Amino acid sequence: MTHTLKTAIVGGGAAGFFLAINLREMCPEMQVTIMERSGHLLQKVRVSGGGRCNCSNTFEDVSDLSAVYPRGHRLMKRLMKGFSQRDAFAWFESHGVPLTVQPDHCVFPESQDSQTIIDCFMHYAHRLGITISTSQGVDSLETLGDYDYIAVTVGGLPRDVSSHWLSSHPIEPPVPSLFTFSVDDNALHDLMGTVVETATALIPGTRFRASGPLLITHWGMSGPSILKLSSYAARYLAEKGYKAPLAINWISAPEDDARRELTSLAGTFPQKFITSVRPFGLPSRLWNYIATRCAVDQKHMSELSKKDFNRLVAALTSDSYEIASRAPFKDEFVTCGGISLASVNSSTLESRLRPRLYFAGEVLDIDGITGGFNFQAAWTTSYTVARSIADSCGLGLNKI
Ligand SMILES: Cc1cc2nc3c(=O)[nH]c(=O)nc-3n(C[C@H](O)[C@H](O)[C@H](O)COP(=O)(O)OP(=O)(O)OC[C@H]3O[C@@H](n4cnc5c(N)ncnc54)[C@H](O)[C@@H]3O)c2cc1C
Repeated sequence: MTHTLKTAIVGGGAAGFFLAINLREMCPEMQVTIMERSGHLLQKVRVSGGGRCNCSNTFEDVSDLSAVYPRGHRLMKRLMKGFSQRDAFAWFESHGVPLTVQPDHCVFPESQDSQTIIDCFMHYAHRLGITISTSQGVDSLETLGDYDYIAVTVGGLPRDVSSHWLSSHPIEPPVPSLFTFSVDDNALHDLMGTVVETATALIPGTRFRASGPLLITHWGMSGPSILKLSSYAARYLAEKGYKAPLAINWISAPEDDARRELTSLAGTFPQKFITSVRPFGLPSRLWNYIATRCAVDQKHMSELSKKDFNRLVAALTSDSYEIASRAPFKDEFVTCGGISLASVNSSTLESRLRPRLYFAGEVLDIDGITGGFNFQAAWTTSYTVARSIADSCGLGLNKI
């Protein structure tokens, strides 16, 4: 009697489904079971990208993977040779999900609805005969003794991993990434809804800085530049208890440029009130706030002293704030940390401690900034595991 090979996939999220479908397509004779702890499948896919699912990125703006994968960029570079963003794009289109690319290089389903991806995964899972078991949490590898291969795709690990069932495996301590900042400044909160298109946010005294749109909120600051900074500095900010100085360069330009612009405006519009000019096209509410903070809002441009100029230049290019806490509102949230990359084979993602145990998706110590990079990591790592299992069991069919 021949033994039917069986794979258990622990976790019914993006990585779990992508792995299961690819594995069955590569090895039609393999029995594949997805075990999901909750009663719901693919929950994060559903809510992702504001319900639209930013499922990948063209990477056209990315010259260095470390800028988009603060953790795991070397491994991603290696694994993307086997399954890249172009492969993911082709995969979805060939599985009935037409995609569209936004001007910012983010990739979404053409339907603009994450349900399209869920429907695709559910359709293929049923068509390929994948067993799906909900309300089946796994809390020990020993309970999966009947399976020939185990793939763990449980997503971001909880903060306290000390008693976690995976804690026998080396784990980089999980901390949040991609969060917004609370800043205690009521005058700033009054600017709620103001967007600065290209600001630079940085944490003084560190190498952490990020540029891009910045949104002022009723609790502090948000927007792509802040989310990116929170990702780069995720571990540092966790160690500091989410209290740290923050500097904003509202114009993403050096002091000299700010001084030149202000001097030029003063020469052209000497009789105008300072609040009537708009250096660098800044939103007028923000410029009024800066002028008020520098105590020059009642002055004409011609009345600005050298000291006033210096204060304005400093406020434009290095405006100081304090991060009071991590804001409780989630924009997009992922976990920094997870299964240590040193503990897995960097070509197959098989555990170095336990043969035939694999990891894919956010459970690994790989995380990206916003823009579709986290789902791309899920597709790349889960495809890698499917390929590795297919190659290892000898049942593998078609290599794409
Ligand atoms: C609000 C929000 C919006 C997002 N938007 C985007 C976006 O637009 N683009 C992007 O690239 N990324 C986005 N992300 C990040 C992205 O959703 C994740 O990176 C991705 O879902 C990770 O996939 P995963 O399968 O590894 O983990 P998950 O999607 O978290 O799936 C893990 C699954 O495992 C289950 N599980 C956990 N423990 C067990 C256990 N012991 N036994 C059995 N099952 C278990 C969980 O219930 C869950 O269903 C967003 C995240 C959030 C929270």
